[in-house]
Amino acid sequence: MNRVYNFSAGPAVLPEEVLKQAATEMLDYHGSGMSVMEMSHRSKEFEQIIADAEADLRKLMSIPDNYKVLFLQGGATLQFSMVPLNLMKNRVMDIIHTGAWSEKAIEEAARYGKVNVIASSEDKAFTYIPDLDNLQISPDADYVHMVQNNTIFGTRFTKLPDVKGKVLVSDMSSNILSEPFNVEDFGLIFAGAQKNIGPAGTTIVIIRDDLINDDYLEGTPLMLQYKLHADKGSMYNTPPTYGIYICGLVFKHLLANGGVEEMYKKNLKKAGLLYDYLDKSKLFKGTVRKEDRSLMNVTFVTGNEELDKKFVSEAKKRGIVNIKGHRSVGGMRASIYNAMPYEGVKALVDFMEEFEKGNLA
Ligand SMILES: *Cc1c(COP(=O)(O)O)cnc(C)c1O
Repeated sequence: MNRVYNFSAGPAVLPEEVLKQAATEMLDYHGSGMSVMEMSHRSKEFEQIIADAEADLRKLMSIPDNYKVLFLQGGATLQFSMVPLNLMKNRVMDIIHTGAWSEKAIEEAARYGKVNVIASSEDKAFTYIPDLDNLQISPDADYVHMVQNNTIFGTRFTKLPDVKGKVLVSDMSSNILSEPFNVEDFGLIFAGAQKNIGPAGTTIVIIRDDLINDDYLEGTPLMLQYKLHADKGSMYNTPPTYGIYICGLVFKHLLANGGVEEMYKKNLKKAGLLYDYLDKSKLFKGTVRKEDRSLMNVTFVTGNEELDKKFVSEAKKRGIVNIKGHRSVGGMRASIYNAMPYEGVKALVDFMEEFEKGNLA
């Protein structure tokens, strides 16, 4: 077996302990004589799995009782539809536009109502988080949408916008559980699992009770109604059972390893190592304004496309893989989610230093 350091933006690295445990339980889950994959979602075993996953996520994020936790499908992308269908009572949404994922949220919400872009960093290729002072929140906005961590461009919000009492909706797909958040600051949080939690196929929605009601836009399919999923405990239809099981194992793993506070410390240390090197490198440059740098997705370039390519391909030979930047940005991107060990980032920085020595003109 030869595990690599996998810097993929998603689906992404998972904790090795979790993968090993899943392997151990693969053929016979807790004496049931079958794999979780083969199990009815109505079985006692699976009911325990989903109940534990929810309870553990609640512990990790200190989710208050007046919030529901839903395990859904369709990725974060389906939330771009589900959120407006359920929340856009006046058919108005405000959004802070920080990249490709807010772009998609805008495109989708605009099918149902009016979208006001109240701040944007498009003028500088989304390399910063726009100024959040004096945001013009629309008086009739149903909610304000933000993308907490911008997976493609490598930026993150370090503070929250003042939404003047409006509902704040946050796409936390690539930074959920990476640092502490106060859930009560948000009306709704959603995240696809495949970046910082588990396998693709499970989407987590954390939604405040008062936003769950029968007042969705006309024609909203049953499957896209939060109320239905909340009433049915995420079991209206067959949920993504194996994915939820792995998410649950990851939650237990995090709890056993100091929880979100500890992850945050480790993430600061990992990102710090890489950014400190980028700041002194004569070859590599970070692409994002310093104060807005993501702890999860570190984007950088050499300034020379050929050299970028050479770096990516030589890194791969060293077991440092999936380091190529998103096709819309180019250069490199190292995604260093919770499950990426410090040693992985160290290996990357060591290789960057070596590459720099060999390739400085
Ligand atoms: C990956 C990602 C998405 C899209 O997730 P899917 O699960 O592929 O739908 C949306 N928002 C952010 C911030 C992401 O990182």
